[in-house]
Parts: sequence; structure tokens; C-alpha cells
Amino acid sequence: MKRELICILCPKGCTLQAEILETEVSVTGNACLRGERYGKEELLAPKRTVTAVLPVSNRPDTAVSVKTEKPVPKEKVMELMQLLQKESLIAPLEPGQCVLEDAFGTRVITTCRVL
Ligand code: SF4
Repeated sequence: MKRELICILCPKGCTLQAEILETEVSVTGNACLRGERYGKEELLAPKRTVTAVLPVSNRPDTAVSVKTEKPVPKEKVMELMQLLQKESLIAPLEPGQCVLEDAFGTRVITTCRVL
């Protein structure tokens, strides 16, 4: 079955047609090779960068944004969100500080400073 996808790798936003054939994935509509790789990955093993906002336990009314350093498998996103809900962060926090070491093949890090 053919799927239509929008390539999200650059602002051009090419419309891709991707289809799993017998021995390969066919991608058309891409203006560059990055789009072809994106289309294949979306069909075979889609991944997403996960972002969240977590409370800082020793700073009332303060939250810190976090994100995965690399995209994680799409089917693991909800599981990762549940793991993050259990995390308790304590200030001071620096950007790039590790929040979760093993998040399905990558780390979760803070994206801002909390003093
Ligand atoms: S296929 Fe290439 S040019 Fe088109 S949106 Fe993706 S990255 Fe940009």
C-alpha cells in the first residue's frame, strides 16, 4: 500500500509517496536523498524526538524542558513518557544535564538552566 508523507527534514516539505515493494521500499517525490532516507525510515522503523516538561521538586512552580538527544522508536514514545513522569529533578540544573541515561538507545537531557 502506498503512503503519502510530508518530509519534515527541511522547510521545503516535499510530499513523498512511499511504498513497500517485494524487496525494497520505493520513495518518490523527494527533492534530495535525505527525503528518500526519511521516507524509508518512516515506513520501516519510524522514530521521533521526544520532548517533555518536568517539575523541579525544590523550586515550586518551576518546570524544566527536556528532550531526547536522538530520536527513539515511535512505538516507545508512550513508554518513555511514563518513565519521565517518575523522574524527580532537583535544581540547580544546567542545559544538557542527563535526566535519564538509557532511554531506548539515547539519553534524555535538559534543554535549559534552572538555578
Ligand atoms: S526531500 Fe529533501 S528537499 Fe524535500 S523536504 Fe525533505 S530534506 Fe527537504
